[in-house]
Amino acid sequence: MRIPIVAGNWKMNELIGEAIDLAAEVTRRLDGASPAEVVLCPPFTALRAVGDTIRSGPPKLGAQNVHWESQGAYTGEISAPMLRDLSCEYVIVGHSERRAHFHESDENVLRKVEAILAAGMRPIVCVGETLEQRETERTEEVVRVQVENGLRGIGDRLRNAVIAYEPVWAIGTGRTATPDQVQQAHAFIRGIIGEMAGEAVAGAVRIQYGGSVKPSNAAELFALPDVDGGLIGGASLKADSFVAIVNAAR
Ligand code: PEP
Repeated sequence: MRIPIVAGNWKMNELIGEAIDLAAEVTRRLDGASPAEVVLCPPFTALRAVGDTIRSGPPKLGAQNVHWESQGAYTGEISAPMLRDLSCEYVIVGHSERRAHFHESDENVLRKVEAILAAGMRPIVCVGETLEQRETERTEEVVRVQVENGLRGIGDRLRNAVIAYEPVWAIGTGRTATPDQVQQAHAFIRGIIGEMAGEAVAGAVRIQYGGSVKPSNAAELFALPDVDGGLIGGASLKADSFVAIVNAAR
């Protein structure tokens, strides 16, 4: 029995005051009861304030990035122990925006995953193909490389990881993958996890879908057998739409 997980990736949005308001509104509307594990991932600058705001409610705190070293001369970077110190429980890694704009490689994803797990947090590892890769029928090849290289050697600890399947062409575009495409990709990823860590781990790992999830399509996507909630970008910036998506996991 996998508990669905719905995470809001706020990206580079929300000043501290706005972040507090949004987190407070989400917490109030969830009203102590949530059909899914809920994670809010504000920008670094608002982590402390959002953490304080959600302390007594269901949402958990997540970060959007981390450096793999725990300390040292890495100007501008934030380490996993620093995030844990702020009560973060999750960290997003390998998001397609970081892969595209900041050259995040699978090797770096793996280093980050190791650092996150060592600090007692859980990684949300994003994988997914571009439109060109899908159109040239390379989706499975690309996703396999990302999963195998980004999670190499993690073994049984994969139980503590969340994988987010996010087709790049569906992120922020309003274009959602069809239920068939989503189920096929999720089952494929679960199969790879089975090869890497065994069937028991594969059955326990949660695989979120991300890419233009909205209140109108969330229930259909979340009902798919291998979908365990979602990673939500744009629709997580409004309490109304985010809470409606969380409730679709019911
Ligand atoms: C994302 O950035 O992870 C994402 C899924 O964005 P959106 O929901 O806006 O497509």
